[in-house]
Amino acid sequence: MKTSTTQGAVSSRTAVKYQRISKSFGHTPVLRDIVLDIPGGSTTCVIGPSGSGKSTLLRCTNLLERPDSGRILIGTDAITDPGADVDRIRTRVGMVFQKFHLFPYHSVLDNVTLALRQVLGKSRDEAVEVARTQLATVGLADLQDRRPAQLSGGQQQRVAIARSLAMKPEVMLFDEATSALDPELVKGVLAVMRDLAAQGMTMIVVTHEMRFAREVAQQVVFLDQGHLIEAAPPDQFFDAPSSPRLRAFLNEVP
Ligand code: ADP
Ligand code: MG
Repeated sequence: MKTSTTQGAVSSRTAVKYQRISKSFGHTPVLRDIVLDIPGGSTTCVIGPSGSGKSTLLRCTNLLERPDSGRILIGTDAITDPGADVDRIRTRVGMVFQKFHLFPYHSVLDNVTLALRQVLGKSRDEAVEVARTQLATVGLADLQDRRPAQLSGGQQQRVAIARSLAMKPEVMLFDEATSALDPELVKGVLAVMRDLAAQGMTMIVVTHEMRFAREVAQQVVFLDQGHLIEAAPPDQFFDAPSSPRLRAFLNEVP
């Protein structure tokens, strides 16, 4: 039993493939013909101006949105094909949001065990064991009986991360996971994300933290007005960007 609580996250080699993804809201194109490969076990950071389609790209990746055209593969499974099992895909693709979306009236422990029991059908004992292990990895073993409101924002976000990880996802999506946090709390959350990356989790991280992107990512992607303008290793991306639009964007960020 012990092994099942520690494997998934670190042994995954699943890749994500975006094959010509397009998405409009009404008449407004938000993603335009996105082609991108996410190698298994790597971290890809996605940056770009507000409204460029970053969140929509992530939301398409766990089917919170559906692309109008194109395909998304998780491993070899085309999740965008009709008939794909949305609940199962959401267990394979974890997502962490800017606002933590914890259940306010449940304890930290229950926040982590709920989906384990309801979606994966684990017994209470099994779910508790997985949850405790996962809470320990994000440094919150001592706080399992608190309610979310009794935690700092950074601690709440780490609960949200633990809750996602408990499902043993093959891919983790982070949508500006540190943007709502006070500056002094950002570090702890980024540290958890760094650890995950170092353990070989496949991660797609929308972020404004350029230092994190440079130090942790194997690939950095720039979106602008729904176009994928550039995808490159961080050195090249930050030091020798090929597109004028990315150069301008990088000049604007502090
Ligand atoms: P980003 O995360 O890069 O800021 P988003 O993916 O959230 O960008 O949004 C891209 C564009 O799509 C924005 O213009 C936004 O207003 C619009 N948009 C996002 N979600 C919806 C929605 N559910 N309905 C209508 N428009 C949306
Ligand atoms: Mg967004």
